[in-house]
Amino acid sequence: MIIVMRKNATVKETGAVLKKIEELGYKPHISSGEERTIIGVVGDDRRVPMDQVFEPMEGVERTIPVLQPFKLASKEFRPSSTVVKVGNVAIGGDEVVVMAGPCAVESEEQLLAIARIVKEAGAKVLRGGAFKPRTSPYSFQGMGSRGLELLALARKETGLPVVTEVMAASDIELVASFTDIIQVGARNMQNFSLLAELGKCHQPVLLKRGMMNTLEELLMSAEYILSNGNQQVILCERGIRTFEKYTRNTLDITAVPLVKQLSHLPIIVDPSHATGKWDLVSAASRAAVAAGADGLIIEVHPQPDQALSDGPQSLKPERFLSLMKDLQKVAAAIGKKM
Ligand code: PEP
Ligand code: MN
Repeated sequence: MIIVMRKNATVKETGAVLKKIEELGYKPHISSGEERTIIGVVGDDRRVPMDQVFEPMEGVERTIPVLQPFKLASKEFRPSSTVVKVGNVAIGGDEVVVMAGPCAVESEEQLLAIARIVKEAGAKVLRGGAFKPRTSPYSFQGMGSRGLELLALARKETGLPVVTEVMAASDIELVASFTDIIQVGARNMQNFSLLAELGKCHQPVLLKRGMMNTLEELLMSAEYILSNGNQQVILCERGIRTFEKYTRNTLDITAVPLVKQLSHLPIIVDPSHATGKWDLVSAASRAAVAAGADGLIIEVHPQPDQALSDGPQSLKPERFLSLMKDLQKVAAAIGKKM
């Protein structure tokens, strides 16, 4: 439920409302706008007739029930868009932010070369996996902590902030110390203990949609992070599993406008995992930007046939460069910057 305070509500009146919320065993989440203060009450609010308790209180204008099962992630709770800031990059504003890099960090030479290429082409964030969730235990599992060191080195060399995946709650501190955005992969979208721990850290989280999950489930997973204290969540549509076999996954392009209707959180698209094929990545990227995505995360590799993971969906540098030029036109057509 949301409590809307009157425009001229005093600090004392707001304080009394906050105290009451806590007395009843709920957690208040305050958002002070220019005009008025809005207080979100989070918890199972069917226990208490909230409107009857709060509407008579001094300074309260009205109470609004949040009908969605996700509360802090909902547009009702926060009507204005959340902008996640990473250094001087803002995700969720009027700019389309491209994150790019290899699927996996493979070596110092590989990572630094790709980092320079994607920066030159206009990417604002470097991606690269150090801990890789692989279907087969016999496939390359990533370079682990050495991979994190290389990401930090690439950040130092290029100035690009980095995003990388964490698979275990016990690695959060380590990953956070080397990177700027922590990725939760599709396979861990419903690893609720991992999400709760990420809620306690202070770094932005890139939460990818599970391959078999609904958008409501994605937003409920975001709720785990938000309700544990971390408000910096970026959602990512990366394709879902369907009967179609020509693509690795099916890109659900409507996820972008739907998330915009339901939530204040930014949403980006991963056209690489969504399609699984490099020759579909450009069209999917253009469509995502046209649909209003706040950004893209794209896999790039100079020698896709030598890549240790996801070569078939990786763009060669020259194709990435030409895609970036096309994306500028698409972004401009819908009034966004790039
Ligand atoms: C990745 O980004 O390399 C990755 C493994 O993505 P997903 O979790 O979406 O499959
Ligand atoms: Mn990959």
